[in-house]
Amino acid sequence: DLNETIGSKPQNGLDDVKAVIVVLSGKGGVGKSTVAANLAAGLAMEGKRTGLLDVDVHGPSIPRLLKLGDCRPAMTGTFMVPVEWHWNLGVMSIGFLLPGKDDAVIWRGPAKAGVIEQLAKQVAWGERDVLVVDCPPGTGDEPLSVLQIFEDKAMAVIVTSPQDMAVDDVRRSVTFCRQLSTPILGIVENLSGFVCPSCGAVHDIFSAGGGERLAAETGVPFLGRIPIDSEVARSGDDGDVFLAVASQNPSALAFKAVIASV
Ligand code: ADP
Repeated sequence: DLNETIGSKPQNGLDDVKAVIVVLSGKGGVGKSTVAANLAAGLAMEGKRTGLLDVDVHGPSIPRLLKLGDCRPAMTGTFMVPVEWHWNLGVMSIGFLLPGKDDAVIWRGPAKAGVIEQLAKQVAWGERDVLVVDCPPGTGDEPLSVLQIFEDKAMAVIVTSPQDMAVDDVRRSVTFCRQLSTPILGIVENLSGFVCPSCGAVHDIFSAGGGERLAAETGVPFLGRIPIDSEVARSGDDGDVFLAVASQNPSALAFKAVIASV
């Protein structure tokens, strides 16, 4: 029916997604993708209907972290179907759409924003309690367009490492979210202390607690510290984040504490 077609608003795969957690970082390499993957895996393991969307155009690492490197999403009509992972976690990544795993995204700004939007909306997410989004790092155009896509559903988790430089970058992320009126669920301090593989004790390599101090200073909740743990690095390389999430390692327990507080 033509009237129905004209009258109906364009379909948006996000309509039945209740909440969106956008994982942000002021700079790259602080473990944003690792936190996003573990957060999504942990929420899915708890039985929440969870999706994980990777729109980090600079280096989509979710396919590698979850060992989904060669997956290509199926289609239903004009919508892409999320790739199913353990615990019914539905995954979509810009990496699934690139021809080769080493290809960089070379689109210019506006095209990039369009691709990011399509990757969020042209997906048959269905009913989800929560969608975790691995966002490009920084406080520029890319994270801005990501936050705009989710409008008032977006809430931010900011990841930092303990070094002073990283903490300054996070201060900018906090300001960025406030300017966009995006609620901040809290700050996670990753790479915070080192778990000794032989004795299990946690040693501080960098001055620890920067994330916590910044949280207190800016009035943002502090969600927890994740130690540097060789098991986290190994599980990322081997693509078995689920083993890490389900274990009793100090890092797994730290991730669970973060999940309990979001
Ligand atoms: P980002 O998304 O911020 O660029 P990644 O999540 O890709 O960072 O992490 C960068 C590297 O650091 C990866 O090799 C990852 O496995 C490793 N890593 C992240 N967090 C930890 C941790 N807590 N312990 C050990 N290695 C980690």
